[in-house]
Amino acid sequence: MKTDQIPAPEQNPDEPIDKKENLFEVAEKQLERAFKVVQLDESLQTIVKQPKNEIIIHFPVRLTSGKIQLFKGYRVQHNNVLGPFKGGMRYHHNVYLDECKALAAWMTWKCALQNIPFGGGKGGVKFDPSAHNMEDLERITRRFTHALGTNIGPEWDIPAPDVGTNSQTMDWMMDTYSNMVSMSDKQAVKRVVTGKSIVCGGSPGREEATGRGIVHCINQWALEKRFSLPGSTLAVQGFGNVGSNTAQILSRMGVSLIAVGDHTGYWRHPEGFNPYKISEYVRAHRSLQGYPGGQSISRDEFFATKCDIFVPAALELQITEKEAKIMNCKVVVEGANGPTDIDGENLLLSRGIDIIPDILANSGGVIVSYYEWLQNKRSETWDIEDVRSRLETRMSSTYQLVSEKARFLKVDTRTACYAIALERLQQVYTRRGIWP
Ligand code: GLU
Repeated sequence: MKTDQIPAPEQNPDEPIDKKENLFEVAEKQLERAFKVVQLDESLQTIVKQPKNEIIIHFPVRLTSGKIQLFKGYRVQHNNVLGPFKGGMRYHHNVYLDECKALAAWMTWKCALQNIPFGGGKGGVKFDPSAHNMEDLERITRRFTHALGTNIGPEWDIPAPDVGTNSQTMDWMMDTYSNMVSMSDKQAVKRVVTGKSIVCGGSPGREEATGRGIVHCINQWALEKRFSLPGSTLAVQGFGNVGSNTAQILSRMGVSLIAVGDHTGYWRHPEGFNPYKISEYVRAHRSLQGYPGGQSISRDEFFATKCDIFVPAALELQITEKEAKIMNCKVVVEGANGPTDIDGENLLLSRGIDIIPDILANSGGVIVSYYEWLQNKRSETWDIEDVRSRLETRMSSTYQLVSEKARFLKVDTRTACYAIALERLQQVYTRRGIWP
């Protein structure tokens, strides 16, 4: 190994590099709010406030340039009392420890809320994937998986795609992991990750699942509010997997996408964009930068766009007090994890804008991850119709359960989601206790 290479600059993993707020503080405040309204044992409060394990790994990778670069990888395992740790792996230059802690906790609540037998985890690697070619991405993924070793496992901790990763990343992870176990276990460990490509054991309908789940929530919301979706308007921030699937499915229901944007810019089109064309453009250019349709607008103009449904499907902490003040929509449906901070949420609610919170709205992804894991475990392949109808049933019934809970407790929807999730965890802790 050459030793004259300069490693990547060290950053404090506890600090977000370009955010004013720390995501874990937002997660803590949400939890505190739930503890105030739900009668929970103090001991449960103590247990779930912090994750069980926080793993940080530095691993060197020989890149195609010939250089050896040191990467920083994370895996936070929040809770596994309901089942194996479960959650995405994120590739982004701003991945930091407290972000993974918040995202891992949200996975615990998300799985508990949906009553699927998984706990919560999240991790990733701090680097910009768009600055690397495919060969480098493969090397980074394989080295990361190897460095994680038995910290992941099909009955222990099951990664999935997240920001900056996709089915190809999962295929590499699965392949690397299965080459680390004995020959006779290779097939059995396929389910160490979900969100794989279909040919490598992924589930039909996994890729569209988060977007589809969001649409089921919007449908339920519309039924509840007696709101007619055909002819209504939509704004979407972020046009990756979640944003694009949501906009495409809604467009088939007559919902018009009138504003769109990502970290490269924002666009408006009063007559409506074609979401399929935008997806194609984003696939080819990796972002919306230079999109030729519609009218280019500022970030503030985007948030102030009058529309019915607003879907933040980019990164966290996008809706603070500043944005909440100018937003002009009926409902915010959180496709991203943690897009709204505490002040932003309070202001939206006081302005009568509904919020369908992340742990409910975007849970379609992990639900179909569970279906993929089950299919792998049973050596089955389900039809897409089967996956879709199971997803719809589960999303709709959980939505209704949350609505009832919110009415019963007289709380906001997010707190109602937390209440359901925490009560499920409490039941298990009460029976099992802590030992030794
Ligand atoms: N990363 C997705 C999420 O935040 C999916 C997780 C999974 O499928 O395990 O929910």
